[in-house]
Amino acid sequence: MTTIRIAIVGLGKIARDQHIPAISGTDGIELAAIASRNASIDGIVHFATLDELLGAKLDIDAVALCTPPQARHAQAAAALKAGKHVLLEKPPGATISELDPLVAAARQTGRTLFATWHSRFAPAVEPARAFLAGRQIKSVVVEWKEDVRVWHPGQAWIWEPGGLGVFDPGINALSILTRILPRPFFLTEAELSFPRNRAAPIAADLVFSDETGLPIRAEFDWRQTGPQTWDIRVETDAGRLTLSSGGSHLSHDGHVLVDEKQAEYRGIYRRFVELIASGASDVDLSPLVHVADGFMLGRRRDVEPFIEV
Ligand code: NAP
Repeated sequence: MTTIRIAIVGLGKIARDQHIPAISGTDGIELAAIASRNASIDGIVHFATLDELLGAKLDIDAVALCTPPQARHAQAAAALKAGKHVLLEKPPGATISELDPLVAAARQTGRTLFATWHSRFAPAVEPARAFLAGRQIKSVVVEWKEDVRVWHPGQAWIWEPGGLGVFDPGINALSILTRILPRPFFLTEAELSFPRNRAAPIAADLVFSDETGLPIRAEFDWRQTGPQTWDIRVETDAGRLTLSSGGSHLSHDGHVLVDEKQAEYRGIYRRFVELIASGASDVDLSPLVHVADGFMLGRRRDVEPFIEV
């Protein structure tokens, strides 16, 4: 198999923290170019925009879109039109409907479209799914609380329409829940807290259920200082399953089942290489559907303005 030559588009926090090391640590794929208006890497071919990169007719097989979601659709459409495989950072778009034409374009061009959910590659997720498959589930509580000043410094786009606000991290919890719970679930109640000076929520309280009446509560909050919380607790007929630290730890009634440093992005790139080799795409929009439901059903509450510094 020939090595896939990939370009990163949007050289920001996640591209530098995760994509670059994961690409260099994955067999079958190599970083060949960067498209970013304000940033570059020594020794790697650089363009200011994806359009310039595509126009240069470089030998590139794929692009990884690490830009904010508001920019994603136009870039993915252009890359697919140019015959490139496309990896989408989460969330896969700023709307749900914009994904349909991308899925169709990937099918028509025979290219791979991969809507990634990095938290699904956390080490505790598949063991949690296997544990819950045969269990009676009694309740689920999600607490996803972090300090926005630490994790999203200076990211103006995240507070704009389409940036999702606290759902940007919250969708990671939803990507895990939609993977580990054995049945589909749906939103029944939501309250979204919007800082008076921002267009996106800083906190969200969500209530979900499923066809059996399972109670599922989720609290997303960006105002947490000190220790950070990324936990999912599931009460079952066989005791409590706790997935914590965003999916790097799993315990059953206090007994540790998984305790591993996260290597989510290596898993993402291994899967991308496999998808390309098999001519397949992978686009699951269920986490984004729950977020859209949150904006549709959520009662809006105005809270104090968010001033970053
Ligand atoms: P970021 O640090 O703001 O980087 C995004 C980059 O995209 C910018 O550096 C910018 O580079 C480029 N860009 C292109 N069009 C843009 C626009 N209209 N507005 C702003 N930037 C634009 O953001 P990030 O944290 O890397 O997040 C990018 C995506 O990764 C998001 O969808 C996020 O949800 C996801 N993600 C982030 C994290 C995390 O921990 N930060 C974790 C997992 C996933 P140029 O100005 O050089 O073009």
